[in-house]
Amino acid sequence: MNIILFGPPGVGKGTQAKLLVERFNLKHISTGDILRAEVQKNTELGNRIKSILEAGKLVSDDIMIEIIKKTIQSDEIKKGVILDGFPRTVAQAIALGKLFEELNNKIDFVIYIDVDEEQIVKRLENRYSCKSCGKIVNKMIDNVVDMKCPSCGGELIKRDDDKPETILNRMNVYRDSTEPVKKYYQQQNLLFVVDGSGSVNEVSERINKILES
Ligand code: AMP
Repeated sequence: MNIILFGPPGVGKGTQAKLLVERFNLKHISTGDILRAEVQKNTELGNRIKSILEAGKLVSDDIMIEIIKKTIQSDEIKKGVILDGFPRTVAQAIALGKLFEELNNKIDFVIYIDVDEEQIVKRLENRYSCKSCGKIVNKMIDNVVDMKCPSCGGELIKRDDDKPETILNRMNVYRDSTEPVKKYYQQQNLLFVVDGSGSVNEVSERINKILES
């Protein structure tokens, strides 16, 4: 089973991807995580893309398609993947379709997580992640004391691109470049819309219902 989790930044794609990985034993591919790891490692690519990430802009299609090709061609893909953060442009979506075709494979579900914009901005402003275990935490909802991770006690950190000025930019980039991908998958009858409001478990149950159907 190959699933794309799709939607604006901050709708919970990463959180839901982790739950699906546990449930269906799939490989989680988060292009944001891959890019952040490159920046951390100070690689040539990392240095080239650091300012793009900080500004909330998109890394070029050429680079992204190259990254996804390398990742998807590995053996791990055979058990199925959850793509989180890719594709973000129609060009990326077309390239992904070709890639799956070459591998005699296909996309089964594109799950669009729907949350209104005001709510998204609030979520991003309150989003932190744990430096130790990677858990994504919302300071307003989760039980956060002294900025420690409620799961493992690790230090909670804010992503560089979750700052108010960058959040606005990311929403504009989403509207201009990524929103058309929704229509692209709708035309292929692959798009399933899920209400992304409510608790993590509520959204997860809605997604499971779609996958079970
Ligand atoms: P995310 O963690 O998915 O929110 O991604 C963080 C940042 O990484 C985005 O704001 C972009 O700058 C970059 N990025 C991640 N995935 C892509 C992609 N498919 N195409 C272009 N840029 C991406």
